[in-house]
Amino acid sequence: MGFADKKIAVIGGGLGGMAFMNSARHAGLKNIHLYEAAPEFTEVGAGVNITRNANRVLDAFGLKDDVLLKSSRDPPSYMEYYHYRTGDFLGQIDEFGDPKSRQIHRAHLLEALRKNVSNELLSTGKRLTTITWDDGKKEYVLSFQDGTSATADIIIGCDGIKSAVRKHLGHEDHPIYSGQMVYRGYVAYEDLSPETAALLRKTANFRGPKKHVLTLPIGNDESNTSRVGIIGFMTEPLEGWTSESWLDKAPIDDFFEHVKDWTGAVQEIIAGLRKGHPDGRILKQTLYVREPTEKWFATESSSASSGIILIGDSVHSTLPHQGQGACMAIESGFALAQVLQQWKTSNLDDALQFFQDLRKPRTDRITKTSAETGKMASCEIPEEKWPEVFNYSVMRERMRWVMEYDLFQDLATKHDALYENTNISLKGPADSTAQEVAV
Ligand SMILES: Cc1cc2nc3c(=O)[nH]c(=O)nc-3n(C[C@H](O)[C@H](O)[C@H](O)COP(=O)(O)OP(=O)(O)OC[C@H]3O[C@@H](n4cnc5c(N)ncnc54)[C@H](O)[C@@H]3O)c2cc1C
Repeated sequence: MGFADKKIAVIGGGLGGMAFMNSARHAGLKNIHLYEAAPEFTEVGAGVNITRNANRVLDAFGLKDDVLLKSSRDPPSYMEYYHYRTGDFLGQIDEFGDPKSRQIHRAHLLEALRKNVSNELLSTGKRLTTITWDDGKKEYVLSFQDGTSATADIIIGCDGIKSAVRKHLGHEDHPIYSGQMVYRGYVAYEDLSPETAALLRKTANFRGPKKHVLTLPIGNDESNTSRVGIIGFMTEPLEGWTSESWLDKAPIDDFFEHVKDWTGAVQEIIAGLRKGHPDGRILKQTLYVREPTEKWFATESSSASSGIILIGDSVHSTLPHQGQGACMAIESGFALAQVLQQWKTSNLDDALQFFQDLRKPRTDRITKTSAETGKMASCEIPEEKWPEVFNYSVMRERMRWVMEYDLFQDLATKHDALYENTNISLKGPADSTAQEVAV
């Protein structure tokens, strides 16, 4: 039965929303439309690291070559750690098998995700303002800031951490400031010495007291997209932030103040940023997080197949210290589309409860461990105690369960356990243990 005949509205066309459009296409949900607030589809900011667990989903969409076109290829390790002052190598986390992590500019990932989504299914300049339920017609009415409206049976809120759909569901909580600001920019490899350029062909993490600088080797030489994405996590009071927005520009000098006594490679990064950003300013972002959300959805008592559900940062935002916010949005979108397409009854409440039960333990766990990982990276303990406390085999195990996760298998197994006598046929990628699993 499922909900394939229902009219689905997706709110938000960021990485989560656009990935969901691919999931819907893959699952066979055709009566769907995405509404994005911005005048065009765009992603600002630095690069993003998409790890194995989510790459398996992207590969299932058939997007492997499209993503690899402008992403890094076969990085030697997942991450290497260096001492902020001496530059000494501290340890590393290896990859956990194929497909390996891919570091890519956000705009290039969005471009790949858009490739197979028909323009007819996408609208820009549509900022959702209100949702109302028309009990006569048994449908939702979505009103947009430009005065237009649309209708839907099912609404999927992919509208980010400040989600309007989330507010409609009655969640009045506010995001919490993490205590850190993020400085983001790019450095060209030719602006670095050969030694530092070679070092930054890997994902490097310079760990310091209450601060760390992460570098991502974005893109590849073949497509002329290779450069170093710089993400500086700096502990700062929120009081100094005067911008209305969470994302703004700030002088490179502010970043430099934090790291002026750091190792030579970091000084080269600062010099490279100055060269690459002639106005002397780079992106600066306040880093927020939410407590895990208890209820991800609401359904209508007068219509069993109508409801609203959240995915991505609107419901499971996390600190980025395990690089999983977008990865989780990709996973959640795939699972939700499969459940909507394959559910055996017309009871949306049961379907969405199953979906939440499937995803929430993992997203809650990642949210918790990402906060812990951030504390370990931006060392919050005295430097003399580092050797006792930081154990790289522990760090590695932290990432193992994140990256070895098999969504296709999880969906099959839990569906079996929770809802006997139902039948989901999953289409996973070629290497999935759950390829074409019927449970
Ligand atoms: C410093 C940093 C580094 C990160 N690094 C990684 C990483 O390496 N790997 C990783 O997986 N994740 C990473 N993340 C997390 C990742 O960026 C987010 O989890 C991801 O972008 C969330 O996608 P989303 O689509 O849910 O939300 P968003 O990206 O916020 O997209 C929401 C979309 O909804 C639109 N919208 C908002 N309101 C409305 C409305 N009312 N009506 C219509 N449209 C609306 C917005 O314009 C936007 O396009 C990082 C985050 C940060 C801050």
